[in-house]
Amino acid sequence: MSQAKTVFLTGASGFIALHITNQLLSRGYHVIGTVRSQSKADNIINNFKAIYPDVESKLSFEIVPDISEPTAFDSALQAHPEIQFVLHTASPFSFGLDKGLDEGYLIPATQGTKNILTAVKKYAPQVTNVVVTSSFASIMNFAAHGDSSFVHTEETWNPMEREHATDEITAYIISKKLAEKVAWEFVETEKPNFKLTTVTPPYVLGPQMFEDSLANKTLNTSAEIVNSLLSLPADYSEQVKEPLGTSVDVRDVALLHILPLENPQLAGQRLFPTQANFIGQSILNIIHKEFPELDGKVGKGQPEGAEEYAVKAGLHCDTSKTLQRTGIKAWIPLETTVKDSVAQILHYKKEHPEQA
Ligand code: NDP
Repeated sequence: MSQAKTVFLTGASGFIALHITNQLLSRGYHVIGTVRSQSKADNIINNFKAIYPDVESKLSFEIVPDISEPTAFDSALQAHPEIQFVLHTASPFSFGLDKGLDEGYLIPATQGTKNILTAVKKYAPQVTNVVVTSSFASIMNFAAHGDSSFVHTEETWNPMEREHATDEITAYIISKKLAEKVAWEFVETEKPNFKLTTVTPPYVLGPQMFEDSLANKTLNTSAEIVNSLLSLPADYSEQVKEPLGTSVDVRDVALLHILPLENPQLAGQRLFPTQANFIGQSILNIIHKEFPELDGKVGKGQPEGAEEYAVKAGLHCDTSKTLQRTGIKAWIPLETTVKDSVAQILHYKKEHPEQA
């Protein structure tokens, strides 16, 4: 039997990373994740035990409290010469941090990316592939909202620079663009042994890997979009126009991190997934179609014209190159994503009435 391949995954406690870990384990990989505390590691192991009873022989953790520290990843990579692949997902993606824009977003995103790539080159020259979780933030052009002649693709770059970061949201957006630039420039100038692929998802929606994440008052930034709509007052009758965005299912995003480890043609590529343009109302319409029991409990807003508005006012995208290169036939549709997310939330609330 051939030996399992080992993947080093940063930010392993995150929404997307837990799905990546699940898909890696199900495909026979071993995973070494980084988390900020031992209690997070213990919790993840306990959750995965329900799916993979022997998970302790396949999944382990290294504690990395802050990816901004220049030597953050050095000892973890030195301790594991078996690591063949590296997935870098860790980056701050929550708002209200009460930190400056550099300290809260720009430094961890850019410095964290530089630190992991530098450590891989120095201490893990056996690594063949690195995948960095970038974002649609590094692709999108704000000025193109509503402009159907401007099509965002794998080749598009957000024109914003550091000086355009004026609040937490723009700082996050620019942090992702600059971090992806750091990664491509590192490969260009340092010429490491590994091949780089980046993944550039828009709003990542979908169920949590484990229901216990729903115990948090608010979910991670993107999943909270669906969760918060379930609190819309029953008599709410205006169209929910915010957020206006483009989405993708978390399970497709997880898969895009793994395919580059198996398909050499994905080396050097930016992988760009999208399922649909949406506004809050588009999601609300799906919720009411799929869950008639919420009638009279959750507001309906103003259902008419939501999809048309989202397409007309949003950014236009073409992800056909990524579909063709990866062999994925179609992105999971928004209806499935919303249905699975809401079903999970309703199930959790039923099981935990004390938290309602
Ligand atoms: P989460 O907030 O759930 O996950 C972020 C992960 O990064 C957590 O494990 C977090 O640890 C860790 N992390 C953040 N800052 C630091 C730090 N300074 N030092 C060490 N660890 C840190 O978010 P997502 O899963 O949604 O995001 C994962 C990646 O995907 C990020 O790079 C994000 O930018 C990117 N992305 C997400 C999108 C989305 O819509 N969700 C869209 C596009 C890109 P802890 O849990 O301990 O805080």
